Amino acid sequence: MEFEYYEILEVSKTATKAEIKKAYRKKAMKYHPDRNPGDKEAEEMFKKINEAYQVLSDDKKRAIYDKYGKAGLDGQMGGSSSGFGGFGGFEDIFEEMFGFGGRREKRKETPYNLDILIEVELEFKEAVFGVKKEEEYEYYTICKSCNGTGAKKSHTCPTCSGAGQVFMSHGFMKVAQTCPTCQGSGIIIDEECDECKGSGYKINKDKIELDIPAGVDDGMRMRIPNKGNEDFDGRRGDLYIHITVKEDKIFKRNGDDIFVEVPIFFTSAILGDKIKIPTLTGEKELEIKPHTKDKTKYRFKQEGIPNVHTGRKGNLIAILKIIYPEKLTDEQKELLEKLHKSFGKEVNAHKSIFEEAIEKVKGWFK
Ligand SMILES: [Zn+2]
Ligand SMILES: [Zn+2]
Repeated sequence: MEFEYYEILEVSKTATKAEIKKAYRKKAMKYHPDRNPGDKEAEEMFKKINEAYQVLSDDKKRAIYDKYGKAGLDGQMGGSSSGFGGFGGFEDIFEEMFGFGGRREKRKETPYNLDILIEVELEFKEAVFGVKKEEEYEYYTICKSCNGTGAKKSHTCPTCSGAGQVFMSHGFMKVAQTCPTCQGSGIIIDEECDECKGSGYKINKDKIELDIPAGVDDGMRMRIPNKGNEDFDGRRGDLYIHITVKEDKIFKRNGDDIFVEVPIFFTSAILGDKIKIPTLTGEKELEIKPHTKDKTKYRFKQEGIPNVHTGRKGNLIAILKIIYPEKLTDEQKELLEKLHKSFGKEVNAHKSIFEEAIEKVKGWFK
């Protein structure tokens, strides 16, 4: 495994966040394009420095990089495969460090958002162990025959003369507003486009091979770059996968931990017992000591779910639930009564405490 990000910033693998930021600032200043106009090598270095900083300054990304190298971050770095998180990026760093934006030019507006969000529902097991899934979805491209206008025949909007904007006077100020006649398109449609029936776009089908990592949880999002809707220049936005996970009857999840409720008969809780409980990978023996209380917890370390970022497993927690008989036969009733009597004074544990309390309360109203 290579650790070139550390080498690029010239910091050690154990460098603190502050050390990394300091190293980045120094390097970025040195290789900044404004200071090295026309220097291709400096520009290349500047890009590498930023890439390295983007990863090493982010705890989650750094953890993934330390473990899996660059490959683990592909999706987040705008590569071709899938990954997690990754909103914000170079632009934010540029703005934070230098006070200017590296943002792309504003694109000509499409009649739809460039990013797509689709929902993928996983079985509990798939979320725990990861799964490869092929998903079909639809994405939009600009209708070629009308170039996105939705019109077969049209004329220039007379209100705004095609500008899409009108200026309204508010006292001495002039304010630009979207043209109310054409809603900003600059044209009036005389006849709808046959190809797209006036929508301005075409619906296409696409397939995506999702490699969903072990440990994903309900509500998580994956970003697949360049698989969204297409703009006027043929560039595609991003596809976001919103993950939902079906609940399991036995295993209840909380973060990376798994909870299992263990029903145990009241006699077993008093006498003690040895039972088998299910785990995510098989079974474990659970020893219940005599006189065990209701809701007692037993922790099985690293029998939970692998963390989606670090791979570290959570715990399995078994919670005891004492069960009482729903019906008694005459014989059982007799036996229980006999047992009850055999405890003598112990069965009246509440009496001595409460009699005193009742007397005290009565005294309040005398
Ligand atoms: Zn107009
Ligand atoms: Zn069309």
